Amino acid sequence: MTYSEFRKLVKAELEENPDGKTWKQLREALSLPYRTPCPEWVKKLETEIGLDRTQKRGKSLIWKLDRWANPHVNETLCTVTPTLCALLGAEAPSFTSGAISRKVIQEAERVLGKALVQRCLVFAPDAMGSHLRTINPGIYQPVMTLAPLELSLRAVLPPKTPVCFASMFTGLIPDMHGIRSYEKPVLACETLFDTLAPAGLRMAIVAVEDSSIDLIFRGRQVDYFTEEYDQQVVIRVLSLLEKGSHDFILAYCQEYDDALHRTDPYSSEALKAAEHHISDFARLSEAVDLYWGSFNRILLFAPDHGAHIDAQKGNGTHGDDIPEDMEVSHFWGFRKGMKVENDDTQ
Ligand SMILES: [Zn+2]
Repeated sequence: MTYSEFRKLVKAELEENPDGKTWKQLREALSLPYRTPCPEWVKKLETEIGLDRTQKRGKSLIWKLDRWANPHVNETLCTVTPTLCALLGAEAPSFTSGAISRKVIQEAERVLGKALVQRCLVFAPDAMGSHLRTINPGIYQPVMTLAPLELSLRAVLPPKTPVCFASMFTGLIPDMHGIRSYEKPVLACETLFDTLAPAGLRMAIVAVEDSSIDLIFRGRQVDYFTEEYDQQVVIRVLSLLEKGSHDFILAYCQEYDDALHRTDPYSSEALKAAEHHISDFARLSEAVDLYWGSFNRILLFAPDHGAHIDAQKGNGTHGDDIPEDMEVSHFWGFRKGMKVENDDTQ
């Protein structure tokens, strides 16, 4: 039996038995060919599926999934996909490393009650991490007025664009989705888009040409719009909103990342680019309210990673396990539709 077969079996069994099982019970239920569990595999399960073995029944440890409290994966970018699936009434991908964010669900319930979300716009500006607050503590204030729930998250390692966005939109850590460096293959694993399609959502991805988001999620039931640069991305999203042609739109912009590599993360050029992302988000937010006003909706500001100054070269970079590169904030906003059909749905 391979490790991934083992993980699949254990995960499915524990999902069906939320109170947990002892190793002996698991071994019998799944006819596992091992007398004792392999410590290395157990460790991997803790990181990847949130296996929790902190409680005992008699002398035996209880194996259960602690989807809420798993510190390894809970507060990383991996939380985005399972949380969006829960809000949009879709099944989560069969494997996710992340957990549904309780904070986000509570905020959704506060605004929407138990009703599902019907429309979602995710705005993903490259490299807009928490490091920007060191130079301007109020930089995200305009974002928060539109999307007030802030979720502090860690990027995944290494904090590079395709690695991070793959984790964000699959819910998987890099070892599981397979993009572990700056490379942009089409993902073979299940993604958010694969799970939203059967839920009946019409999806669009609007991204700058040859960017990670433009490439790695291809081949799904999604309308792909490849644009020359950020301005064209924004114009395209505005026109899609006006047409009402999609329920879920992912928009990617990259001027800040380009500028920080050319100069540094705090240069006036880079800060100007950051301001462009923030004002574009405001423009899109306005259009979301105008054209999606009758739907329960999400507006999400979701960058991938941060950046720092390369001490030797003096310009901006990212990819290290340091707070400047790893810490990001996502901002979630929920709005209630003005005349919602089927409040309780299905
Ligand atoms: Zn970059």
